[in-house]
Amino acid sequence: TASRVRLCAAPLVEGLVAAAVAAAGGASLTEVEAEAIAALAGKQSHLQPADAGDGAAPDTGEPAVRASFVVANLHGLHARPAARLVGEVRTLDARVQLRNLTTGSPWVPGSSLSRVATLGALEGHEVEVGATGSQAREAVDHILALASRHFDEGGAELTPLVPAPTTGGPYPASPGIGIGPSWRPGAPSESLSAEAAAAPAAGDPTAEWRRVRSSIAAVRRATVQTRARTSREIGEAEAGIFDAHLMLLDDSELLDGVRRRVDDGAPAPAAWSEAMLALAADLEALPDEYQQARAADVRALHDQVLFAMLGRSSEFQPRPGVLVADDLTPAQASALDRNTVTGIVLASGSATGHGAILARSRGIPAVVGAGSDVLSVPDGTTVVVDGDAGTFVVDPDPDTLVAVKARAAEHEERLAQALVEAATPATTTDGVEIHVAANVGSVDDALAAAANGADLAGLVRTEFLFLGRATAPTVDEQEDAYRSVAEALDGRRAVIRTLDVGGDKPLPYVEQPSEANPFLGLRGLRLALARPDLLRDQLTAICRVAAERPISVMFPMVTHVDELHAARRILSEVDPPEGLEVGMMIEVPAAALKAPAFVPHVDFMSIGTNDLTQYALAAERGNDAVSATADPLDPAVLRLIDTVCRSAGETPDRSVRVAVCGDMAADPVAVPLLIGLGVRELSVPPYSVPHIKQTVRGLASSTCRELAAQALSLHSAAAVRAVVDETRGATG
Ligand code: PEP
Ligand code: MG
Repeated sequence: TASRVRLCAAPLVEGLVAAAVAAAGGASLTEVEAEAIAALAGKQSHLQPADAGDGAAPDTGEPAVRASFVVANLHGLHARPAARLVGEVRTLDARVQLRNLTTGSPWVPGSSLSRVATLGALEGHEVEVGATGSQAREAVDHILALASRHFDEGGAELTPLVPAPTTGGPYPASPGIGIGPSWRPGAPSESLSAEAAAAPAAGDPTAEWRRVRSSIAAVRRATVQTRARTSREIGEAEAGIFDAHLMLLDDSELLDGVRRRVDDGAPAPAAWSEAMLALAADLEALPDEYQQARAADVRALHDQVLFAMLGRSSEFQPRPGVLVADDLTPAQASALDRNTVTGIVLASGSATGHGAILARSRGIPAVVGAGSDVLSVPDGTTVVVDGDAGTFVVDPDPDTLVAVKARAAEHEERLAQALVEAATPATTTDGVEIHVAANVGSVDDALAAAANGADLAGLVRTEFLFLGRATAPTVDEQEDAYRSVAEALDGRRAVIRTLDVGGDKPLPYVEQPSEANPFLGLRGLRLALARPDLLRDQLTAICRVAAERPISVMFPMVTHVDELHAARRILSEVDPPEGLEVGMMIEVPAAALKAPAFVPHVDFMSIGTNDLTQYALAAERGNDAVSATADPLDPAVLRLIDTVCRSAGETPDRSVRVAVCGDMAADPVAVPLLIGLGVRELSVPPYSVPHIKQTVRGLASSTCRELAAQALSLHSAAAVRAVVDETRGATG
């Protein structure tokens, strides 16, 4: 491997970023080295700007072919477009040079990212490109074409609508209209570093150093995963951002600085924080936008490693306005509050990911799949989120703003009207009562469920108690939490689902194997049965509260009847109160098809259409590249639901209630189909309860049955939607 390694002197951050981009672009080791060394030129040119700035091309005299273009990218030739340009230059047999005519910069080689960055080419600047060599003409033409395509950054960028560059564009994830100043999580550096400075040392310098290393290793692992996901879901170019993070985490110069502080007696958090903030401050002092942008990387890592060191999840303090982020972890999304956060725009994410689900359950308008450009919107810019249309506007003009505010007011008025009627039951025009329940993931949700007229909480996701902490909650802690949820529901029934982790919801204190396909792995009830101690504790806490409040228990991700028996055996050992209702979720297609085998062993079934859809259609719910394929109105999913309803309805001596608690239940197009198939409970985000109750009141169950029968015979979700729309149109 010695032949693949070359040591050279180069500036820490600029050097490694320039070298990484060169290497990723296929440059030779010598070229990579040259790039790293040349990265200092950025700083040098800022110190001696007039140096070679006479406009003449150095070394080779005047380039043979010349032309100029005007930079149209909103943020100028920042890292990504510059890297695109350099990548293009490297593929051609030509010596390409560039200079910024607007600022009168000297020529710089077009094959060097760090030198191109020194052009300081902002939006509107005129850049001259010159080339010599056998492909000089092609090189200039290619660069002009690239410039006219905004260096493939996605058109005119950001106003009025941002197209997602590599996915199908933004789409709705949570309804409503939100307006406010944008803010990005990950800016709590100040408060975090104050916390870091105050944190005491847990051990001697050796122990503190170990703490530094293990926290870095944890962040490294998470970064590798994020990189892989970004590459898969957005693109390799965007994933490259994380290479700079990984290199920083391994940077020996930086680590030496931390080590020195630890050896001088500083606790791990303070040592890490000081060293990183010093580096960030150095970078921020540079006049170049590209180099300044690296400070954001340093700050992001500063925060991430500190979170790990302080034993906290990377939660953030919600700020007023529109949250703009790449994606939200369940722990982060669960920290959001509708009164503070007025809207959410996620660059990646998907409408069925847990981040979006939690946004819906909080009633916060959200758009996902917005594309990574949105991440460069400066904090404080006014952003309008239209969670119904799935669009957003950055920095709207005054007329747009007035129009949007009027629509938002109308929306609020409609909601208020629905809310007044929400407290009464929802019955179809021909007298079939449908329970409209709420999905609850916190005490706040339970309060919102009661306030919005939910008949019960049809799904209490208990993950909120288990996420973002270093150890499992105790039985007493769980008992308190379940009691608080029950109290907030004010006499309404709560269907408590046992822990559903694995897949996209890993826990630090539950050892889980590394799985290539975690959604097909040890998750839900499978994991609970592998860790019966956790399940037993949880069931004990649930039973204590169930002895005094209307509580039911429900098991997630059941595949086999034996699993249900095993779970019920543990339940029977923890003293369940007389008459405790026990249900199961139907999320695995196999369980739907085997519904008749399960029916004798449960009191109710709740269909988790989010997972059922992903499994039936082989389309991962967190992957926005396939989210268009994953429509729960697909006739295949409807047939599975039909099988469950028929099996539950065919029990002669007792009735087994069928609910739907997946997001589909909150889709007004799906509601008539579900009622027609025989579903009698719809469990939806708390803020959707009034609207879904109104939807139910406008339907006749007889029409719903006909519609459902027709839908089962169709060939696509689009055809199903068309038929429902037609019927709704006909009935007004
Ligand atoms: C579902 O899968 O539809 C469901 C309700 O469970 P969760 O979204 O929590 O996986
Ligand atoms: Mg599920």
